[in-house]
Amino acid sequence: MTNENEIWEMAKVNLQKQLGFSDISMNLWFGSMILKVLSKDTAYFQIENDFKQNIINTRYLDDIKKVMAEILGFEVRIVPISIEKDSFESRLAEVITKENDEKEPYEKKAAANAFPMSDSSFVSKEIMGAGEELSSNVIVSRNSPGFLPEYTFDNFVVGNSNKTAYTTARTVAQDPAGSGLNPLFLYGDPGLGKTHLLYAITRDLTSRHPDFNIIFVKGEDFMNELIEALANKTPVAFREKYRNADMLIVDDIQFIAGKASVQEEFFHTFDKLYESGKQIVLSSDRPPKDMHQLEERLRSRFESGFITDIQAPDLELRVAILKRKASSLGIDVPNDVLMYLGENIKDNVRQIEGALKKMRALAYIQGEEINMSHAKTAVNDVLTNMAQAVTPAKILSFVSQKYGVPEEDIKSSKRSKDIANSRHIAVYLIRKLVDMPLASIGKLLNRDHTTIMSSVENIEKQIKSSPAFENTINELIREIKSGT
Ligand code: ADP
Ligand code: MG
Repeated sequence: MTNENEIWEMAKVNLQKQLGFSDISMNLWFGSMILKVLSKDTAYFQIENDFKQNIINTRYLDDIKKVMAEILGFEVRIVPISIEKDSFESRLAEVITKENDEKEPYEKKAAANAFPMSDSSFVSKEIMGAGEELSSNVIVSRNSPGFLPEYTFDNFVVGNSNKTAYTTARTVAQDPAGSGLNPLFLYGDPGLGKTHLLYAITRDLTSRHPDFNIIFVKGEDFMNELIEALANKTPVAFREKYRNADMLIVDDIQFIAGKASVQEEFFHTFDKLYESGKQIVLSSDRPPKDMHQLEERLRSRFESGFITDIQAPDLELRVAILKRKASSLGIDVPNDVLMYLGENIKDNVRQIEGALKKMRALAYIQGEEINMSHAKTAVNDVLTNMAQAVTPAKILSFVSQKYGVPEEDIKSSKRSKDIANSRHIAVYLIRKLVDMPLASIGKLLNRDHTTIMSSVENIEKQIKSSPAFENTINELIREIKSGT
């Protein structure tokens, strides 16, 4: 069974990658740090002196939190405890007593404030001026895909639902633009392995041809980069970068639909590459025919190559994936537990991984081998987490990001067109996605319930009169639900 030491060692590997630290720096700050106590919501670390405790508290807490969550499958508080003045045990006792003292008033406060607004789901909040055509639809968050060494062909478990996608991806990596699969278009619901396959193509090709110039970009980032290039008056450099690629991979291309100048630019990039015999690979959450706001000329190009979908895995594939993931996480899972997980987690491979990690952590905390009771709790948590993922706070933060309007303004009495419109949309989405009474939404946004009702009606009217607007709203809902 995994112990604290192993958990922390695994987390440190990710931490080093995340921080980009040398071994020396890692050792300097984290070498003597020991994970001493792990409860179901807190990790208490021993630190050698107050100075390091201070540095860790001010600089690395969030990073440590993130890598611990990656290993455990759920978030814990990170509490470093310095042993400069006293032993770990007595300092821990002090800390826990203090926490208990503080807990009571905190709980009362949380209850009074039924919808706490603090929300860390969006980290970056860059807001930038955009070109006219784009201004209403700009996404300003930027999530780089990061380094994911496990996304290889070897680690991809193949079954009926993903066989064609896997095979075509492999073929393209072996023989770019040579196999009649250009462009290759993969689509499917979230969490079914599209990004995994795109990474695998990249890794496979670069391992054999390190000089091959592959550009891997998310649809969203392509758009942001283009906006930035236009704002900085550097469209030529942008164009050169993309049009000199040997292979272009765009993950989640659906983001560019409906954005005129982005589609225009992408169209020319696409044609230039295609005509020079370069491979293009695209992924999307739906097939081209269902991308309603996609320009016709782009749609016909997307359809001119090979289109394949990835469906949700059947039971056999789910169990195979479970076995593979369990073994790569180094956990022993009894057969009845494997079957239980396989039967209950159906739609999303990402959840399978989450449930395994959660089970491991539960078993560890209770000092037991993994059993059915851990499996039941884990499945329940993973499934309800998905269902509860949408909160008013998340919606507000999302709308704020999406439209570049600060949350304070959405909640303020300001009436400029942009602000009012984002407010109507936020209200509509909260009403639609969260089971929350009008009066409570009003409280959240400092308004009475009749104003809230008229926001809802305003959006309903716009939806009725404009299919394009309806599409935008549906797109927003999809994005919020998928947590992107
Ligand atoms: P998508 O891009 O379709 O939303 P991802 O590629 O991000 O999905 O996959 C979600 C998670 O599930 C990743 O951790 C990925 O490695 C894993 N995954 C999905 N399908 C498979 C598979 N067939 N075999 C192994 N892992 C998979
Ligand atoms: Mg993806």
